[in-house]
This record gives sequence, structure tokens and C-alpha cells, in this order.
Amino acid sequence: MASNPRRPYVYRFGSARTEGDASMKNLLGGKGANLAEMCRLGIPVPGGFTISTEACTAYTEQGREAVLALIRGEVLEGVAFVEQEMGKRFGNAADPLLLSVRSGARASMPGMMDTILNLGLNDEAVQGLAARSGNPRFAWDSYRRFIQMYGDVVMGLKPARKEDHDPFEVIIDMVKEKKGVTLDTELDAADLQELVARFKALIRARIGHDFPTDPWEQLWGAVVAVFESWNNERARVYRELNDIPASWGTAVNVQAMVFGNLGDSSATGVAFTRDAGTGEDLFNGEFLVNAQGEDVVAGIRTPQQVTLEGSRRWAALACVDEDTRRARYPSLEELMPDLYRQLLQAETTLENHFKDMQDLEFTIQQGRLWMLQTRNGKRTGAAMVRIAIEMLDQGLIDEATALKRVDPERLNELLHPVFDRQALAGAQVIARGLPASPGAASGQIVFFADEADALARQGQAVILVRQETSPEDLRGMSVAQGILTARGGMTSHAAVVARGMGKCCVSGAGAVRVDMHARTMTVGDATFHEGDWLSLNGSTGEVFAGRLATREAELSGDFGRLMALADAHKRLEVRTNADTPEEAAIARRFGATGIGLCRTEHMFFEGQRIVAMREMILADSRAGRQAALAKLLPMQRSDFEGLFREMSGLPVTIRLLDPPLHEFVPHDEAGQRALARETGVSLARIQARVEALHEANPMMGHRGCRLGISHPEITEMQARAVFEAALNAQARGIAVHPEIMVPLVGTVREFNAQAAVIRRTAEAVFAERGARIAYQIGTMIETPRAALVAESIGAQAEFFSFGTNDLTQMTLGFSRDDAGRFLPTYLAQGMYEHDPFRSIDQKGVGQLVQMAVAKGRSVRPGIATGVCGEHGGDPASVAFFHRAGLDYVSCSPFRVPIARLAAAQAALG
Ligand code: ADP
Ligand code: MG
Ligand code: MG
Repeated sequence: MASNPRRPYVYRFGSARTEGDASMKNLLGGKGANLAEMCRLGIPVPGGFTISTEACTAYTEQGREAVLALIRGEVLEGVAFVEQEMGKRFGNAADPLLLSVRSGARASMPGMMDTILNLGLNDEAVQGLAARSGNPRFAWDSYRRFIQMYGDVVMGLKPARKEDHDPFEVIIDMVKEKKGVTLDTELDAADLQELVARFKALIRARIGHDFPTDPWEQLWGAVVAVFESWNNERARVYRELNDIPASWGTAVNVQAMVFGNLGDSSATGVAFTRDAGTGEDLFNGEFLVNAQGEDVVAGIRTPQQVTLEGSRRWAALACVDEDTRRARYPSLEELMPDLYRQLLQAETTLENHFKDMQDLEFTIQQGRLWMLQTRNGKRTGAAMVRIAIEMLDQGLIDEATALKRVDPERLNELLHPVFDRQALAGAQVIARGLPASPGAASGQIVFFADEADALARQGQAVILVRQETSPEDLRGMSVAQGILTARGGMTSHAAVVARGMGKCCVSGAGAVRVDMHARTMTVGDATFHEGDWLSLNGSTGEVFAGRLATREAELSGDFGRLMALADAHKRLEVRTNADTPEEAAIARRFGATGIGLCRTEHMFFEGQRIVAMREMILADSRAGRQAALAKLLPMQRSDFEGLFREMSGLPVTIRLLDPPLHEFVPHDEAGQRALARETGVSLARIQARVEALHEANPMMGHRGCRLGISHPEITEMQARAVFEAALNAQARGIAVHPEIMVPLVGTVREFNAQAAVIRRTAEAVFAERGARIAYQIGTMIETPRAALVAESIGAQAEFFSFGTNDLTQMTLGFSRDDAGRFLPTYLAQGMYEHDPFRSIDQKGVGQLVQMAVAKGRSVRPGIATGVCGEHGGDPASVAFFHRAGLDYVSCSPFRVPIARLAAAQAALG
């Protein structure tokens, strides 16, 4: 740290000189760097100085006395500078300079120390302030605020438990009650003086010594408290969650106070240069006359709007008539037109300078405007997109910046239907569950998946309500508007499947009791029947009674433009994982350029199919299996035709059957009995077969191409279904590009054996039909061995698709389904940086991907390479796949736009 000549610890800002600037966020924190930058732009900022993050680091390493010795001299100079700026002396009781002490890390961080205002007051100075301002009420109000804030954040007089009341607020309430008033503003100077006395008595009683009267002692205490807060529990937890290193430290901003509570020509407020909710390019904000600090956001009084336009809009929503509005809630534009114009000028300057939407804090002291903070404003996903596109159009930013301004994950908010704002106003929440899959849905309650299907066919909007869902409910889930389950977490079947479908889902709504026999759902005293209307918000987990109007996602407009821009910059193609024509259609609307993974097993679960599938499994001869497969053939063929139709002109990758057969047979006795009735096979034989299919470790068992190798007739049926469907589609003028994918290959012989069955079947079908189509046979790389021998496999396979879910499981040696027991602990202890099933383990699994790509290309230069695991929709993984040089990623339909944007950002570096 002690380099020579060492860097200063203190950086001054003000009208006379400014030592920092916006580029110095690491040293000065976000707040300090931007305060300095505002000074450089000639915007009025109360003078002050920033103690750098390096001082905080020194405090953490060396403690209080050592750091104070390091910074004391520079802080003294800093205070002297502020004294000059303001023409007042710190500690001069007759006309005191008061200070604010504000924390400010590189990244804005909740949990850090709260700001202390009015520092420097004591029993003498409050008299001086009262005399100089001619406003005793103001002086005592400032003093009681100071004691309250300092007592709370520096002296630690916080309520012992969260649910306890703030002891200061308890006293304030008592004094108000005694006086018979309800608002703080109704307390006069004498009342506030009483508060001060009571506050000080409270502190003495609780801490055992008096409130510090020496301004310097107050200042050192506050500075150290800011350093200390960097390591408090709340801040530490936040840092862990957001990957902020402890070594960054926080800066401390010490600044002259300006007063928004000096009467009716004073005010304080916050403003945004654009609408943070919608992104509309409209300056907006709120303020309060005669107020200080965070009164505006504290919700004690109703804040007024900064602009006339905003004020009118607010009045319309709040049902306030124009006369009342003008009389009681006038805008700043009307109330203080000159100051409004100055504020408007400042916001324009700041936005043009930072070239991003700004979130501003300002205070007006007796007719003079001061800016207290500016930062890039937080915003909704919709606002992110709109602001980026409009700033591009306005020439403020270039295409690359516009693309980087939007967080791909936040696009999620735009892709799903939302409730109409008006409709939500009067809506009644009856229960809450987990926000399992985003979006808004309204429909009539149905309790059974097949009935959901039937009703949906008649054009009814339905909400499927279940205790929990299972693979048999897939069809019903896919046609429902939304899904509500009483049980299950964020990774329950309902939650995972719904997210994949992009369907609104609320899971684990514990207050909901489902009675499948009575066909009712009860919440508390309320009972809902089949056919009753219900609405779900899958983004918040709220369940509403009745029907709420929803609005479809808007995919054109700004969103469409952003996506077109992304496509122009990205190199990776983005395909989709889709098993049904409906999913394929959605994905195509979202810009998928093909299907990267069709899981054919999903096609075996619905209705009569599962029966035929089970017959196939129960058959003990090849002929018996073929007979059962013959029933499945037409169904698969029509599924594939649907996919080819939706993806006309684009590649469709179809994976052969993958999961172990036991997943298709019932494991409970009731189910087995029903199966016996349906098939005429004896219960004993069914049970013996189920027993025989049992595996100790199904994930590493009889699945993937191993199924097709022991039962080639399955592969043959599937290949036939693909080729017949392709020829049928082609006959109707659809351009088809089938790609058949062999799963879970470990050796090239497995691949060759399956490829031979597929080619033979293709020739047979082509001969029968007297027509041919071009097709490809490739493989998944999802066992480590396949990656290791990728050149021998690549010599035979026409494409590689990385099944990163299995590849991760097999490389790490733990399964996704079982990792839940220890992964949270692992992540907390930093064993892995992040969940390897969500974001690819670049250092480990990533190496296998890179290696296999290189080996594959060494034997087949143009070999197509893609990723079809869930990682294909994770922005950080997409960036890695871009760098690894893959050709495409494939992800669930609703993640397609996210992957497209992430791919563009990856290409932009
Ligand atoms: P946060 O990081 O929570 O936004 P700030 O440091 O911005 O905290 O302080 C909170 C509020 O305190 C500001 O919005 C402003 O109203 C008030 N404040 C801070 N510094 C000053 C000052 N120098 N003069 C007047 N008010 C101030
Ligand atoms: Mg602030
Ligand atoms: Mg797999």
C-alpha cells in the first residue's frame, strides 16, 4: 500500500477546485466520483471531500488509530477547504458549518452505513444556528435529526430485534401523542427541543456516556462508522450474493450541508431523467417542500411531482381533481419555475454527459438549487430496452453500447404476458406461492390435465390447479394459460417444465388445498370450484380470485429493433430446444433459427401413446416390440411433421430415445393394476418387468444409444418416423433439414451401429416413396469419453452437439437431481464459483468442450458444433461458447432472445 510518493487519501470537490472525476470510481466510490464530475461540469454541488477506499482498506487491516493517523492531516485540510467554500467554520458555535457524512462504494450497496446529516451540532451550535437562520424550529429539527441518525448508526442504538420499534421513533410518537398531533411537521421548536433532551437521555441510559458534543469527535466517529459498516453483516451478505470482493472497501464523502428544511422556499427531492418504469423520455421526479434527507421516500407526507406533466398524470391516477392538485400538490414547475428550469438544465447536462438515464438527488435551500447525487438509474427490463434504442436514435450512444446496456436476463420481463395495470388496481390476492415461472395468466380452474386439454380445444382459457404435476400432465400443462400447484419448490416438476414452456406457474402455494375428488380448491374460508376464474402472476407468486385482463408481450417495436441489432452483431446461431410444434412456433417468433434438440421421449407420454409405449416395454419378443412400435410410428410421424412445418427451411435436430425404460412404467401398485387391465398382461408379469428394469444408478444405466443398441427396432421406428415425416412435409412444399442425433455415445462403434440402422432405414423409406431428402447424422458429446476420442467419432459423425447437462454430471461426478443436498453448502463455501448446472463450469467441463471441438475439426474441418444443454440459454455460458468457437447454442424457447442478445454481447467483447 505505502508506495512512494503515495496517493492522497482525501480528494476535494467544490467550486474552487476538484481533484477527482467520474473515472475514479474504484478510489472514490460511485457517489464520490460523480460528485466530483458534477463539480467539473459546473453543476452546483455543496463543497466537500472524499476519503478514498484505500483508507477503508487501511482501517480493515490496521484499525482505528492507525488509519486516523494516516488521514488526519488531509481531513483537516479537507474541512478547511469546505469552510472556505461555504464561508463558515466547523465548530464555530455562533455560525456553524454543518456536514453530511455519506458512504459510497464502487457499486451501490444496500446494507452500508446510512447517511448522517447535520453533523457538527451541539447545545451551543444549535442556538447559533437558530439565531443565524432566524428559524429556531429548523435549528432544533436539524439537531434532533442529527442525534437520531448518529445515535442509530454510530452509537448503535438500533432496536435490539428487527421487529422491535426504533426507540427514537417511540419517543417521537409519545411527544406527538401528548401534543395531540399526527405529523412531524406539526411539532414546534419547543417540542423538538424536548425531543433532543429525551434522545440524549436515552443515549446516556443505554450507552452509559453522553452524546459527543465535540464536532471533531463527532466527525471521526462518523468516518470510522462508515469504514466499520463495510464489514457489517448486511453488507457482507450482499457482497457474497453479488460477487463483490471484500477488498474493494468503501469511500467516505464528507460534504457541507444544504438545507431543504429552511422554510417554504426550501425543498428536497429525487428525479429521473427518463421514466424508470417505461423508459419514456420524460423527465420526472418527486419533491417535498420544507423537508430534509429521505423524507421524500419515507412516505410521511405525499410528495409532489417535479414536472407539470408528471403532476397531471399523478392526479389522474390518484383521482385528485385539477383544482385540488394545483392548490395542494402543485408541481415544482409551477411552484418554483426558475428553480425548475435550473434543474431541467442540470438533468439535461448530466444525461448528455453520462449518456445514460440518471437518478438524481437535489435540495433547494431558500431559492438556491444544489445537486447532491447523480448515478445511472435502475430500471425495468422494458425501460432498459426502450432507453437503449431511443438513445441510439438520439445519437447519444452507438450500437455496441445500446446492446451492452441491456441485461439479457432482464429481457425475461418482456417476453411474457403481464396484467393490465388498471386491472391490477382492484385485484385481491388470495394466496401466495413461489414465482416459479414468469408471466401473467387468467383462466378457469381445471383440476385434470386431460380436461384442460379438452376445454382448451374448445377455446377456453384454463388454469391447471394441482397438488403437484407429473410427466403425464404435460399436455394439459402445455395448453393451460397457467399452472398453480399447492406443493413443490422452484425445481419441482411443474416449475421446471413451466419455465421450459415459458408458461406462467406459481408453485408451492401452501395455503391452497386441492381436493381432486370434490373438484374444489380452498384457501382459508373461500372455496373455488371447477370453472371459477383465477389469475396468477408467475413473476411474483401472487394468486388472485377472478379474471384479470392481461396484455400480450410486445415483440415488435423497440424489442424487435434491439433483437435485429443483436442478430447483426452476433456470430453464434441460436436454435431452440422444442418437442412440440407449439414450442417450435413460439421459438420461431422469438427468433430461433432451427431446432437444436427435440427430445423424442416427451412424445411418448400423452394419452394412448404411453399405453403403446408400455406394451413395447412389456413385450418379451422382438415381434411383440415391433407390433407395439408400429402403433407409435404414426404418432411420432405426425409430431415430426408438425415440427418440420413450423421450422420450414431451418434445421431440425431430433434425438433418439434417451431415458431409461423404467421411467415409462408405473411404479405404484394401483398404476400397475390399471396397466394390467389395459394390456391384458398379468400383474405378476408387469411387476417382474418393472423389477427387471430397476437400476441402482439409472443416470449411468441402460439409456441413450444403449437402448437403441439393445433394441435396434426402436431406433428403426424413430428413423422411419423422421424420414416419412420429412418426405410428407417436402411433398407439401416445405423445405426440410432433418438432423438425427445419437445420444450418450462413448465409442465410435456405438455411433456406427446406430448410424447403420438409420441409413438402412432411410434407404428403405426412400425406396418405398421413390423420393429422397438430404439429412445428417450426428452425435451428442455428453460423456467425457466422447470428448476424449472426439477425432475418431468426428470422422464418422456429421455434427457434434454438446449435451452439457450430462457432460457436467459425468465430469463432476454428481447428478443434478441429487446435488441439491450439498450444492448450496458447496456454493456458500466457494467450492464452485456458481451452480455448474446453471452456468457452465468453464475451467473443467469447458475444457472438454474446447478439446472436442478442436479434435472434431482436425478430422472434419467444417463439422457443425452446438450446445443443447440448458447452458445454451445462460448469458455467461453463451459468452464462453462464443469464445470456444461453436456454431450455435440451443435453449428453451423463452430463452432464445436472451441467448441472441448474450451472443451479440459476446461478439462485441
Ligand atoms: P444513499 O446512498 O442512501 O442515497 P446519500 O448519501 O445520498 O445516501 O444521502 C441520503 C440523503 O441525505 C440524500 O438524498 C440527501 O437528501 C441527504 N443529504 C446527503 N448529503 C446532504 C447534504 N450535503 N446536504 C443536504 N442533504 C444531504
Ligand atoms: Mg443518495
Ligand atoms: Mg443427455
